[in-house]
Amino acid sequence: MGSDATAIFDAEAAQTMMKELRAVYGSGATKSYDWRVSQLSQLLKLIEYHEDDIAAALRSDLSKPDIESYVYEIGVLKSSIKLALKELRKWMSPEKVKTSLISFPSSAKIVPEPLGIVLIISAWNYPFLLSLDPLVGAIAAGNAAVLKPSEISPVSSALIAKLVREYMDSSTIRVVEGAVAETSVLLEQKWDKICYTGNAVVGRIVMAAAAKHLTPVLLELGGKCPAVVDLNINLQVACRRIIMGKWGSNNGQTCVSPDYIITTKANAPKLIDALKTELEKFYGKNMLESNDLSRIVNSNHFARLIKLLDEDKVSGKVVYGGKRDESILKIMPTILLDVPRNSLIMKEEIFGPLLPILTVDRLEDSFNIINSGTKPLAAYLFTNDKRFREHFVTEVSAGGLVVNDTTIHLGVLTLPFGGVGDSGMGSYHGKFSFDAFSHKKAVLYRGFVADADIRYPPYTRKKLRL
Ligand code: NAD
Repeated sequence: MGSDATAIFDAEAAQTMMKELRAVYGSGATKSYDWRVSQLSQLLKLIEYHEDDIAAALRSDLSKPDIESYVYEIGVLKSSIKLALKELRKWMSPEKVKTSLISFPSSAKIVPEPLGIVLIISAWNYPFLLSLDPLVGAIAAGNAAVLKPSEISPVSSALIAKLVREYMDSSTIRVVEGAVAETSVLLEQKWDKICYTGNAVVGRIVMAAAAKHLTPVLLELGGKCPAVVDLNINLQVACRRIIMGKWGSNNGQTCVSPDYIITTKANAPKLIDALKTELEKFYGKNMLESNDLSRIVNSNHFARLIKLLDEDKVSGKVVYGGKRDESILKIMPTILLDVPRNSLIMKEEIFGPLLPILTVDRLEDSFNIINSGTKPLAAYLFTNDKRFREHFVTEVSAGGLVVNDTTIHLGVLTLPFGGVGDSGMGSYHGKFSFDAFSHKKAVLYRGFVADADIRYPPYTRKKLRL
């Protein structure tokens, strides 16, 4: 479905697809442990047998370095599927809970059940991970699913459609390729959950469409992720980790990339020098030619980033980089110092290789700067000061926090991954993915003994005194 490039995906096609999926889902086919295991195993094969094809698609769409593809997409996906296969029985098991006096005698449990048919709309920057990782949770929880990969990474989208058709149960798992028109048609249908990854403007469109059917949503959005850098740290290690989260992750086109840094005025020159040194060790002097840096995904995003960089307010603030080559859609890792807070670059999520550094007199002031904006998807702190670290954990609201590193919390499958406020709602990864696509059904069991008269009319004064 949708993978045939000539087929038109219109309202009629969508309704037919939904009817087919509802019929199969209604038969209970996806509920069994065996179906879930078989589909998770097929998904693992889909990835393991096609690692090179996946890396090639990512090279074509984003010039993503192969190692990045293996580590951040293929590797994370394989771990996620293996974990689901290992833990599935446990996740599916009802959880016994205590009951209260009001129902005595009784027993109770919480029974996870699938939600139904789920729609997974994903973004272009990690096209395989963002489509297939939510699918792991959807399958583990026993749902039928439709994937809508991003048209902005077309080679990856086509490969996802082809491989899903070849490896997965087509009566319950489909891919619809396309852009706004196709997604809009999908959003008109009644889903049992929508998982959307992308920007908050479209997030609002998705949520409004879902509201018409009272469909719950998992919104994985973005925002401006800050990194606060303290003094007296191992600056070299900190810079290597900042660089990997910023330029080493899709050249900054990552939802959890550090968007800007806050440090003290006194620390900024040392930090900038250390960043330059480590950047040049990683990518050489001519970074526009480095094969270890992804390009900007397309000319629209290139123009968007150049507009942020060339705005009058910030053009004099570049302290490193700034070079660009539109013919290969590359922008050099670029550091800016003390850009005005009302500049575009500080108002919008950057989502690219530009890194502003803001300076403050006291590092404690950074919390106010962070908390005065919308809540970020991630926030980072580099420090050796335990008291400051705990202050950061208590004071800063974000989807997730990492102390002394960037972005790697994504790979820790025991942690929920998701935003808060404008950076999203709901979370997934590991068991949280299973929970995201399950309903926790409350079940209370009673027998026929000890049927106390007190709860039944007539409500006499004597009963009231008991
Ligand atoms: P995108 O352009 O690929 O859009 C995402 C999806 O929305 C696509 O499938 C697209 O077809 C669909 N879409 C676009 N416009 C639409 C419309 N008008 N109506 C219906 N559907 C529409 O991706 P993007 O939005 O550029 O992605 C970047 C954003 O996503 C950033 O803000 C980033 O931080 C965020 N992001 C978040 C995560 C996360 O896990 N939280 C991961 C990746 C990206």
